[in-house]
Amino acid sequence: MSRTSCPACEEGRLEKFLEIPSVPVYCNVLWETREQALQAARGSIELGFCSACALIYNMAFDADIVEYNVAYENSLHGSPRFQAYAEKLAAQLISDCNLQGKDIVEIGCGKGEFLALLCHDGQNRGHGFDASYDGRVDEVAGAHVEITRDYYSDAYGNQPANLILSRHVLEHIETPAEFVRTILAAAEKAQCEHVFTEVPDGMWTLRDLGIWDIIYEHCSYFTAPCLERLFKANGFEPQPATSAFGGQFLCLRATRGEAVDSTTLANSKEQAAAIAEVGRLVTGFSAHYDQKVGEWKTRLADLHAAGKRTAIWGVGSKGVTFLNVVPGADQVAVTVDINAMKLGKYVPGTGHRVQGPESVIDEKIDVVLVMNPLYRDEIAEQLSEFGASPEFLCV
Ligand SMILES: [Zn+2]
Repeated sequence: MSRTSCPACEEGRLEKFLEIPSVPVYCNVLWETREQALQAARGSIELGFCSACALIYNMAFDADIVEYNVAYENSLHGSPRFQAYAEKLAAQLISDCNLQGKDIVEIGCGKGEFLALLCHDGQNRGHGFDASYDGRVDEVAGAHVEITRDYYSDAYGNQPANLILSRHVLEHIETPAEFVRTILAAAEKAQCEHVFTEVPDGMWTLRDLGIWDIIYEHCSYFTAPCLERLFKANGFEPQPATSAFGGQFLCLRATRGEAVDSTTLANSKEQAAAIAEVGRLVTGFSAHYDQKVGEWKTRLADLHAAGKRTAIWGVGSKGVTFLNVVPGADQVAVTVDINAMKLGKYVPGTGHRVQGPESVIDEKIDVVLVMNPLYRDEIAEQLSEFGASPEFLCV
């Protein structure tokens, strides 16, 4: 059963514009055996657009088949480029929100790396919540970070907080408006001044055709007008959402305010224009999506026909999606990742075994497909240390 009512503005209707049948439910759970990986659960993606608030949502999303546990591994902190971004963001938040000796709640804190940064650099106390937390947390945070292995809910609303943040969480939540109200209730109880949220920027997917970020785990895709509207409608006063990480992320900082009713929101000309702009990109998206997948199908077929051995670098959402969506990608010889927790495990859907950077030499790889162009230089640098100089193609 497809959902047609919009879970963000809770008034508009979702109109379907793209279908991607049968993709792995999890891109960030790798498997112990090839057989398990090949049999990994699948789901369908049917993206719908709400012209009232600009939400893009997987109408076929079934929350019952997605469960986050300790097998969920999506830490990117092993990458210097990502770590530098996280450190800069932490410093910015500490400064903007005046976080010195304060309490910070992070919803969906993963392994706690970012919370540790905030606490270490600002002498703050961190309280994290994550159902996939496995006990690892940056040691430099010492006793200042406490993590509860659970989904965040109203039950934890009594936690003291000067900042409540969530990064890459909202897009996983089936009912985003309810979630924002949960944050508001907690912020009110704690008299919390600041709220921060970071999500993938839907414009990267729509405009820059970052199509490998369309994954089952993400039911929602937010753009700036949608995210701002969501917070305004549910009792926050947001600052304009800003793009970050080379246009791939969208950040929003807000304070508590008055909930703005939907008529007032709909009457904002600026808001309507921004939503219409997203709508225009949505209209042509399906054709662009097919074209990009088709181009990569041809490129891969040409490379393999010429006897070139290929590797995918980056076994996260993008890499797993590429392998599963592009016809012929099962012929990619090697999948590489620098996250030690992923090594030796198997990719859902295609059964590739994840190997370390040295496999580019061992497996005589001619062409490395870089799944995130932001990492191209650090990958080239790493490989040159091994004496490898393959051709690079940014996907
Ligand atoms: Zn809506």
